[in-house]
Amino acid sequence: MALFSALLFSSCSDNEMINYIPEPEVDTHLDLLLYDELPSTAKTFILALDEPSSIITTQRSFNLKEVLRAETSADKDFILITSYSAKPITNITLKAYLPEIAANVHIATIDSIPMFGQVAFRPAFLDGETSYATDDSRVVSFQREFIPNDMSFTVDSDCTHYQMLKTIKTNWTLSFSNYDWNPDGNSTWLELNAMVAREWVVIVTNLGYMLSSPQYYEVMNNFSSIFGGELYGNTGELFTNADYNNFIERCFLSKRFVLGRVNPAYVAGLGGGSTWGVADWNFYGHYASYSGWEAISHELAHCYGFSHNSNLTYGNNGVGWTNMVSNLHVYMNTLGDMPYESRNILDTHNSAYDEFRGFSIDRSKMNDASTAKMYQDSKVRKYFDNEL
Ligand SMILES: [Zn+2]
Repeated sequence: MALFSALLFSSCSDNEMINYIPEPEVDTHLDLLLYDELPSTAKTFILALDEPSSIITTQRSFNLKEVLRAETSADKDFILITSYSAKPITNITLKAYLPEIAANVHIATIDSIPMFGQVAFRPAFLDGETSYATDDSRVVSFQREFIPNDMSFTVDSDCTHYQMLKTIKTNWTLSFSNYDWNPDGNSTWLELNAMVAREWVVIVTNLGYMLSSPQYYEVMNNFSSIFGGELYGNTGELFTNADYNNFIERCFLSKRFVLGRVNPAYVAGLGGGSTWGVADWNFYGHYASYSGWEAISHELAHCYGFSHNSNLTYGNNGVGWTNMVSNLHVYMNTLGDMPYESRNILDTHNSAYDEFRGFSIDRSKMNDASTAKMYQDSKVRKYFDNEL
C-alpha cells in the first residue's frame, strides 16, 4: 500500500487524486469519536499538575483566538487536537481544508475533550480511499499516505462555553517563562508550575473575553460619565473618543506575551513589551474581583506602553483603567458572564494541591462578602442598572 501511494504521489498532481462523486446518495464517512472509548494512547494532557516547568516554558503556547486547536502531528500520521480550555468542550466538529478543491471536508466529531486535554486521531483517509461530505454539499473521495503539508484543520463546537470563547477578539499569543529564576530564591522571578500556568490561562482568557465584550466597549465610550474623569496617556493629555477606541482596537491586534511568576520578595508584578508577570496571590485572588486585576491590568498597560504617568497603570482617585477592569470583572462575573467564573473550577486554593501549588493561600484574597459589596458599589454595575 505504501508503494502504491508513493507512486500516485510521484505520478499524479494533487488535483487528479481527488475524485468528485456526482451522486449525492453516495455514503460519506464521518468518524464519530467518543472520548471515553478512545484508546488511552490517544489521550494526553497539557499542563498536567506534575508537568515540569522545563516543558511548560518550551512546549506550551497558544493563541487566545484559538483555544481549541487542530494540527498535524510531527510524523504526519495523526491530527492532534489540543485544548487550552480550563473547562471541557463538548460537541466538537473537525474539518479539513483541502486547497485543491477550496473546500472544508467533514472529517470527524468528538463528543467531548476534557480541560487541557489533547486527542490524537488518525483520519480514515490515511488507511484507504474515503468519501467525505464538504461544506459546499459535494462529496469528495481521496486517500493520502500521510497528512499533506497544505491540509489545515478547523474545529468548532456549539457548546455554551466554546461559544463564549469564540467571542474573544484579542489576538494574543501566550507562552511561559521562568525568566531569571534560580533555585536559590534570590531571583526576581520564581519557577512556574502547572497550577500557575493553568491560572494564567484562565486570567488571560477572562481578560480577553472582557476586553472583547460589548460591555467594555460601552464603558470605554462612556468612561468619564461612569468614573467621573477621563483616562490620560503618559503626557497627561486626556483621552479623546478616538483614543478610547484606538486602545480597544490595539488590544485586538496580534501581540505576543510571555507569562511569568514574579518573586514577591522583590516585586508584586512586572510588565513591559511581551513580559507579563504577577505574584502568587493574584493566581487565585482574581476570581474575587477586588484582588488580582489591579496588578494584572497594571502590568498589561505597561506592555502597551503606558507609564506610571498615565492612569492606565495607576488609577487617580478611583479614575483609571485598572479600576475599570476590576469594576467590569465584578459586574460581568457576578452575572455569570465570564468563561471562568469560579475559583473552584481549577481549585488552586484547595489544600489538596499544596504540593503542586508551591505557595500558601491568603484567605483574605477570597472573601465572597467583599466581592458582593464590590458588586453593589461597582460603577459599571450602577451604569448598566441606571443608578448613576
Ligand atoms: Zn508599574
